[in-house]
Amino acid sequence: MNKYIDEAESLLMHTYNRAKIVFDKGEGVYLYDVNGKKYLDFAAGIAVFAFGYGNKEYNDAIKIQIDKLIHTSNLYYNLPIIEAAKKLIKASYMDEVFFTNSGTEAMEGAIKLAKKYAYQKTGHANHEIISMNQSFHGRSLGALAVTGQPKYKKPFGPMIEGVVYAEFNHLESVKELVNEKTCAIIVEPIQGEGGIYPATSEFLEGLRKICDDNDILLIFDEIQCGMGRTGDMFAYQGYGVKPDIITIAKALGCGLPVGAFAAIYKVAEAFKPGDHGTTYGGNPLAGAAVSKVFDMFESEGILENVKEVGGYLEKQLDSLVEKYDFILERRGKGLMQGIELNREVKSYIDKAAEKGLIIISGGMNIIRFVPPLIITKENVDEMIGILEECFGE
Ligand SMILES: *Cc1c(COP(=O)(O)O)cnc(C)c1O
Repeated sequence: MNKYIDEAESLLMHTYNRAKIVFDKGEGVYLYDVNGKKYLDFAAGIAVFAFGYGNKEYNDAIKIQIDKLIHTSNLYYNLPIIEAAKKLIKASYMDEVFFTNSGTEAMEGAIKLAKKYAYQKTGHANHEIISMNQSFHGRSLGALAVTGQPKYKKPFGPMIEGVVYAEFNHLESVKELVNEKTCAIIVEPIQGEGGIYPATSEFLEGLRKICDDNDILLIFDEIQCGMGRTGDMFAYQGYGVKPDIITIAKALGCGLPVGAFAAIYKVAEAFKPGDHGTTYGGNPLAGAAVSKVFDMFESEGILENVKEVGGYLEKQLDSLVEKYDFILERRGKGLMQGIELNREVKSYIDKAAEKGLIIISGGMNIIRFVPPLIITKENVDEMIGILEECFGE
């Protein structure tokens, strides 16, 4: 494996400190490296592979579409993306959607749409966006500008103007920033990269009211917490607070690179021909994947499984919090969980990989659990067993 790793390091830009594993194939909730070593996967390619690896129904749908038509550009229509749009609109209760190739592009589009909506209303472009500290919205310059973590942004300034930051779950700090220039509030209903922090109901309800009172758009970034991860199709549905614009990616294509931003009609219609575009976004191949993903959420009973196994995972993690005094707390919802330690977690994550368990961090001191949504209670037990071995050692 070291030969491959050295080669990769000489060829790929060093933007990650990767784990020293070269994966070769996947089967269900297990991954195999090039030496044939087996790993239980509690990361799912960062909250992506909802159905696990090598799912025949999903793979066949993509294979059929590959042979039929992969790409046409957005100068024309294609059938798979119409199907995908229909299902996404039905599941998200939005009215219109724009497909992208990634989460960060979904955020770019959402920001542009909010700005265009305000521009159309006021006749000028001088608007502000309120985002949250500790948030994460992606790596392109627009998405970075609304990301509330200075460590990602410092060398890349100046950022786009007019972005201000409030404290997550602190309504007063948002109210203080609202003025006649505010056009949108961006928030993750559950902060992911920032360390698995769920919003409180009062916070999201309060944001909705601020937005309604001031004709400000509420944008939910559900790129990580959406697509069934919390036990609801979208996390906002568990809170009963509907956004005006939602961004979706990660599990949307379950492995194929596709994202989307969707909006209610009054907002979506602010975009006119020429306002936004993409060459690849919404191509037939991505459409076939998204369409199949939504079908399989129903046929595989994904939400029911997340509720059941998510509840079980929560209970098992809670008992770890009880048992080990270096674990401070558990946070999360469904199959999006984190435990915060009073120390750095990297050595535990490395040790877990040695023992055949893939977990990831969500900040220095937080272990994040975002497994495939098809995991079973037995998989949870296996994971907890390995994790406890690591803690023991
Ligand atoms: C991963 C993520 C993004 C960025 O998505 P990419 O596909 O990596 O560009 C944005 N927001 C949230 C909440 C995410 O978890």
